[in-house]
Amino acid sequence: MEWETVIGLEIHAQLATRSKIFSGSSTAYGGAPNSQANLVDLGYPGVLPVLNGEAVRMAVKFGLAIGATVARRSVFARKNYFYPDLPKGYQISQYELPIVANGRVGILLEDGTRKSVGVTRAHLEEDAGKSLHEGLGRSSGIDLNRAGTPLLEIVSEPDMRSAREAIAYMKKVHTLVRYLEVCDGNMQEGSFRCDANVSVRPKGAREFGTRCEIKNLNSFRFVERAINHEVERQVELIEGGGKVVQETRLYDADRGETRPMRSKEEANDYRYFPDPDLLPLVLDEAFVEGVRTGLPELPDAKAARFASEHGLSEYDAGVLTASREMASYYETVVAGLGGEPKLAANWVMGELSGFLNRDGLEVGASPVSAAALAGLLKRVQDGTISGKLAKDVFEAMWTERKPADEIIEAKGLRQITDAGAIEKAIRDVMAANPGQLAGYRSGKDKLFGFFVGQVMKATGGKANPAQVNDLLKKLLAGP
Ligand code: ADP
Ligand code: MG
Repeated sequence: MEWETVIGLEIHAQLATRSKIFSGSSTAYGGAPNSQANLVDLGYPGVLPVLNGEAVRMAVKFGLAIGATVARRSVFARKNYFYPDLPKGYQISQYELPIVANGRVGILLEDGTRKSVGVTRAHLEEDAGKSLHEGLGRSSGIDLNRAGTPLLEIVSEPDMRSAREAIAYMKKVHTLVRYLEVCDGNMQEGSFRCDANVSVRPKGAREFGTRCEIKNLNSFRFVERAINHEVERQVELIEGGGKVVQETRLYDADRGETRPMRSKEEANDYRYFPDPDLLPLVLDEAFVEGVRTGLPELPDAKAARFASEHGLSEYDAGVLTASREMASYYETVVAGLGGEPKLAANWVMGELSGFLNRDGLEVGASPVSAAALAGLLKRVQDGTISGKLAKDVFEAMWTERKPADEIIEAKGLRQITDAGAIEKAIRDVMAANPGQLAGYRSGKDKLFGFFVGQVMKATGGKANPAQVNDLLKKLLAGP
């Protein structure tokens, strides 16, 4: 039997406000435990929440960017449950009337497939605190610094059909929130994480299968692995005559598998009701229009512009616009070069991205600036060095943090274009390899590559390759 995977994601994006959603405490990451928790965050009786206007503005920004309906009236509700890191006994969230509904996010897969994923809703809510288990498992503590941090929960339709589509969607939302500057996107610190809902059904079936929800995935790699593992588990289970039960599961990254956390039967009944401490949130037209006017150029628009202005493939344009910083780096290289957008694209997506990944750096921290890379590519363009040597120069620029010209001079890497010098090198190689020369002249054409290699070696890789080819053909052919 062939199976089809169905996935819906619930993404939690921590909004980049300075203070919490209902109190004035700082949201800065990494403070000493409980140093950023005031009476509201501690859930003292009698205190009142005050809504952070900046969090509202950020949610509206996101809603407009995905073409969603921004509710002119939305309502905060209490979601009641007990947990040691939730002193109030409820979390303030939005339930029936969220601030954002019915949006769409376009994704583009590596094979060129385009798809649009529905966003059911995005609502504002507060985060809970953290339970820390330390000291050989003997003691637990509660840190309420995170309590009350503003979150935007972005709930997708069950529109994705593979782990790769889910990743593409999650990356696109990640790109969007950073373009909009509503979330720093830092996944290690938990600022951007997701729950993945996964089910399988026989290919061609119309009804969805029973789903499991995998909680709290905070890296793209984990999302992919967790989904693939979960699909395999469900298919094996059903093919073995069993049934998937709806439950919440945890992904164990060390073992690469998911295991049950709680089943729907024991699921909480949250007893949602409108929070009597907060008025309905009413937005006027002028506010929403003001936010719309302030939107930056969005990733899709930028990618379309890159594709048409620079003649790039849609996929490459998508890669180069994955972050505003990457896009602006690329544009600076092209401007510095005065053209050659494809050469620039190849270097930014190839060498530069490879080194950034290797060293775990963001493009903003690149040791080779965009202007410096343009300087290197100019020397390829004007024939000073070959494209191959340029890679060595780039590596030296990366570690020595010097401009290309300085490294080319210091290492004597200038390309040899002097025909006399190349001819001499060829004649030396021919004299040193009489056997191969005889072989070539008796019809072993393949030996041509051997001679190219020897000449390049003799010139330290600096001879102009096109000239070497032409001259070799002439000289090998005989007097
Ligand atoms: P709940 O109220 O239990 O959280 P929702 O209907 O809000 O359930 O759905 C939560 C998430 O699960 C959404 O992202 C949705 O797209 C996804 N989802 C719903 N049904 C399925 C299914 N059968 N398979 C995979 N994902 C699903
Ligand atoms: Mg849910």
